[in-house]
Amino acid sequence: MLDFTLTAEQQDLVRTLRAFARRELAPRSRDGDRGGDFPWDVWRRMGEVGVLGFRIPAEYGGLPSDLLTVGLAMEEVARGDFSATYGIQLASLAGDILSATAPVDLKKRWLPGLAAGETVLALALTEPGVGSDAGRLACRAEHAGDHYVLTGEKSGISLGMAAQAAIVFARVAPTPGRGGITAFLVDLAAPGVSRSALRDLGSRAVGRAVMAFDHVRIPVDHRLGDEGTGFTRVMRGFDYNRCLIALACLGAATVSLEETMAYVKERRAFGRTLAQFEGVSFPIAEAATHLEGARWLTYHALWRADRGLPHTKEAAMVKWWAPKLAADVVHQCLLLHGHYGYTDELPFEQRLRDVIGLEIGDGTAEVMKLVIARELMGRESLPY
Ligand SMILES: Cc1cc2nc3c(=O)[nH]c(=O)nc-3n(C[C@H](O)[C@H](O)[C@H](O)COP(=O)(O)OP(=O)(O)OC[C@H]3O[C@@H](n4cnc5c(N)ncnc54)[C@H](O)[C@@H]3O)c2cc1C
Repeated sequence: MLDFTLTAEQQDLVRTLRAFARRELAPRSRDGDRGGDFPWDVWRRMGEVGVLGFRIPAEYGGLPSDLLTVGLAMEEVARGDFSATYGIQLASLAGDILSATAPVDLKKRWLPGLAAGETVLALALTEPGVGSDAGRLACRAEHAGDHYVLTGEKSGISLGMAAQAAIVFARVAPTPGRGGITAFLVDLAAPGVSRSALRDLGSRAVGRAVMAFDHVRIPVDHRLGDEGTGFTRVMRGFDYNRCLIALACLGAATVSLEETMAYVKERRAFGRTLAQFEGVSFPIAEAATHLEGARWLTYHALWRADRGLPHTKEAAMVKWWAPKLAADVVHQCLLLHGHYGYTDELPFEQRLRDVIGLEIGDGTAEVMKLVIARELMGRESLPY
């Protein structure tokens, strides 16, 4: 059976979030881009509409949903404010990780606030010396009785400036490679934690941070899962998160294309509307074709994820394709608005800067292609 219909609940959610994004998120998006304080009011509103609790059990204030539904929400929220989608992806990842691994006390302490948009949790894997090759991370957590001592640095961490806590990946034993990596929930108010902000090209509301941990004491019960299981756990989440990122990028590109279609049907040059020139309508037709293809491949990947089917290859495909496609489409839309498109009065320049970030974040195109090649041809196709 092949069925492409969304459920009635999913259709309702899309309608509700499309209106929410247009009315409440889009008007605020430029303020977030201009910097300043973290947009807590936007996060709280997202909490109220329920998009931060998709992967949090109902007993902790969540609204458990399948992954395709989370993806649809990403797409809709991105139409209003791309940066706000970081809230959904990180609350989903953190929700899944904590629900599966944290003791009840930690779940009670952190999950309700996460679902409500009162609490922000970051996920800290990347380090100054290690990004794509995250399995070689250097952060150390030494076991000392009833606690661990965490030392090291993380870099490029989304929501890192606003977060009250972070899921930090560190090496517990001197075991080389992925096997030695363990995940911890670290309260960022703990002594020994310091952070500084990165000045990004786009998605500035997200406030990426460099975090330093100088002998930070972490209670043993803040270890998430067994020692040495951290890397496999985050990688499992990364597969679906890659699809969520793809849909955020496709949402930003799709709304840009819709706005551009409306514009070229009105704007006139050489005695006709711009839409009547094939030099204008053909790139639009091509963009719509590519967006549709990328969207359905992403839905398919999430559909597989929801059924527990392997989806690593499909997730890697859309993670390199969709951000690049979105950057190309938004760029084309900017150009089709002529000089107005180049100003910050229209949303294209911001959307372009925003989507470029996720050509890198959560894995670059090159790394995704290595994953696809490995899935297609086996590990012997890898250079290492
Ligand atoms: C917007 C954004 C949000 C982010 N959010 C987070 C976050 O929340 N948490 C977190 O932990 N990290 C986060 N990151 C960091 C991100 O995951 C890393 O930047 C990414 O994994 C790449 O690592 P790197 O920057 O160290 O680049 P490097 O690994 O140094 O790579 C540099 C270049 O070399 C290429 N390259 C590397 N290896 C190969 C290879 N084998 N073959 C071909 N080319 C290769 C890469 O594709 C890239 O073009 C974020 C980054 C961005 C931009």
